[in-house]
Amino acid sequence: MSPQTQTVPLVDPFQRAISYLRVSVTDRCDFRCTYCMSEHMTFLPKKELLTLEELDRLCTSFIGMGVEKLRITGGEPLVRKGIMTFFEAMARHLQSGALKELTLTTNGSQLGRFAEDLAALGIRRVNVSLDTLDPQKFAAITRWGRLPQVLGGIEAAKAAGLRVKINAVALKGFNEEELFSLTEWCAREGHDLTWIEVMPMGEMGEEMRLDQYWPLKDLRARLAERYTLTDLAERTGGPARYVRLEETGQKIGFITPLTHNFCESCNRVRVTCTGELFMCLGQEDMADLRAPLRASADDTALEATIRAAIARKPKGHDFDYSRQKVAGQVNRHMSHTGG
Ligand code: SAM
Ligand code: SF4
Repeated sequence: MSPQTQTVPLVDPFQRAISYLRVSVTDRCDFRCTYCMSEHMTFLPKKELLTLEELDRLCTSFIGMGVEKLRITGGEPLVRKGIMTFFEAMARHLQSGALKELTLTTNGSQLGRFAEDLAALGIRRVNVSLDTLDPQKFAAITRWGRLPQVLGGIEAAKAAGLRVKINAVALKGFNEEELFSLTEWCAREGHDLTWIEVMPMGEMGEEMRLDQYWPLKDLRARLAERYTLTDLAERTGGPARYVRLEETGQKIGFITPLTHNFCESCNRVRVTCTGELFMCLGQEDMADLRAPLRASADDTALEATIRAAIARKPKGHDFDYSRQKVAGQVNRHMSHTGG
């Protein structure tokens, strides 16, 4: 980190302070969720990926410039070799107080192995993606995943004292009928639950996505048939909105990047596993951070590249399903940007 620049916080041209960084540490995964990957994915050669040391330098630079929340994602972050070394390295920023939160988004398959170590490093919460509680449907949607392993991982996380937030992708004709059973299961287990609207990512067939598109306003209306929903003012700077179910006290989130304009409070940027910095999930513009990382052991050029990129962070994105065609589609897989 270069001492001259680290004290000046990252603020974009629309006066949004960049305090949240999401980093994908691998494009690989032990699952093949149908909405995320094709069954026969070609993954990147290892040399394309940032090394764990490069990831450390990159995250440390962002933290030096005001990032307070770091989310590790993928692909599946917990299948990256040596990933616990990286979490250990990042934990030093929790200990110093520079980082307020270190967290991860995972499919849960490896939590049985890692939950205790993660908790010991100061991680307090994990997001676990789980779209169904039906073992057959789970195997169908993830292709390679097995439900008992993930439920075991969630149990391990809970036992280690981690708060679990379940992320479920809302899929028409797939988990519609599980709306209430998933809600009730989360209430019983003490997990928060957030529904994600399926996004037009990658090059999956356009028809399939439109077929599966279950608008969260419809999901919300269904939920309101059984529960009293109170809107919560809480905003995270991201696309999630929250309600409380008065009958259970549960908090339910809705991530509707396609139908809601949340850009005005956007506090986040994303880095892919190859070091591409995306200033907006819905736009193609990016900055290559791998080149300055590899060009010099000194972080001056890296930080200058980050600042120049933030100065180009766009005002908003351009997804739109409303015209029944995939407009503003970005030809990137979620496993590349990390969701
Ligand atoms: N493997 C980890 C997991 O599944 O949680 C982390 C990476 S995954 C790409 C991050 C999130 O993106 C998951 O919650 C997943 O359900 C979501 N996701 C993947 N493809 C999506 C799509 N096309 N639309 C909406 N969400 C998607
Ligand atoms: Fe893997 Fe997560 Fe994508 Fe599923 S959503 S294939 S678990 S990266």
